Amino acid sequence: MILDQFPRHPLTFGPSPIHHLKRLTQHLGGAQVWAKREDVSSGLAFGGNKTRKLEYIVPDVLASGADTIVSIGGYQSNHTRQVAAVAAHLGLKARLVQEKWVPWDEPVNDKVGNILLSRMMGADSRLDDAGFDIGIRDSWKQALQDVEDAGGTPYPIPAGASEHRLGGLGFANWAFEVAEQEKQFGVFFDTIVVCTVTGSTHAGMIAGFAALEDLTGVRRRVIGIDASATLQKTRDQVARIARNTAELIELGRDLRDEEIQVLEGWAGELYGIPVDSTMSAMALGAQLEAMITDPVYEGKSLAGLIDLVKDGDIPKDSTVLYAHLGGQPAINAYHSLWS
Ligand code: PLP
Repeated sequence: MILDQFPRHPLTFGPSPIHHLKRLTQHLGGAQVWAKREDVSSGLAFGGNKTRKLEYIVPDVLASGADTIVSIGGYQSNHTRQVAAVAAHLGLKARLVQEKWVPWDEPVNDKVGNILLSRMMGADSRLDDAGFDIGIRDSWKQALQDVEDAGGTPYPIPAGASEHRLGGLGFANWAFEVAEQEKQFGVFFDTIVVCTVTGSTHAGMIAGFAALEDLTGVRRRVIGIDASATLQKTRDQVARIARNTAELIELGRDLRDEEIQVLEGWAGELYGIPVDSTMSAMALGAQLEAMITDPVYEGKSLAGLIDLVKDGDIPKDSTVLYAHLGGQPAINAYHSLWS
């Protein structure tokens, strides 16, 4: 398989675990719901979806001779925390731009959770007032320049490791991992539900499942739930990265439009701000399954899954796999939602 030809630096324990969410399934009274857990699959500072993406980027980092990884995200970015973790693990430095992506004026927002962990791991984490945008930012370019001016050798990783040539490979491989686990558990997931913001998690899955479909002839739905609240930008980014990744893994055909589905309806008005459906989904996951989700990403995708199952959009005879992408450290910054 072509994916095996890309170097991969292991940062996870192996395949992320899958399990049946029996009580949630029973409560919803529709499709069977399972989860695949990126949140418990690495020993590096709680892991998450970026750790899997970085497995394919680290060989390029090491080959480049860089001494500092430069990346960007919000104050409570899970991505920059995972970059800080990987840098510490490799003995490199991390320079992080943390923008004010969320108008969440909780006084501990820039002190606890992800940013606290990044600082503990020795990252040079600097705050910037700019608001949410998944595109390439001047502040990040400036940070790269600053590292160079100080005599360092930077390696650039954009927000979410998405606009990186290799950013989609981690989750293209996820599709093949799912196929192996299906054999092991004697189950078939006809539908996958995943949160999407900077796009390369969902895009990688689209490319990977397309390649799997071409090998097996079996089609599935890979549904992205938008949590960016800037839907068109995320849709465009997912489509672009999915097509680039498909080309990289030599899919040999264009992706069909119906293979690229980013659904709206659960992001609310703003990235990072939970709405009622987010709060109910988080409570349901926690109270029925002790499965903790966050108000920025996973609470929103879980809300999407719950509604799609309840409304029968995902039919009763389906077996759906919820991709849990991590993100729990951020809940510390949202403590006031429950206090
Ligand atoms: N879920 C969590 C916990 C995340 O940290 C992210 C990162 O942005 C996402 C979902 C969305 O993934 P992506 O940015 O690859 O679309």
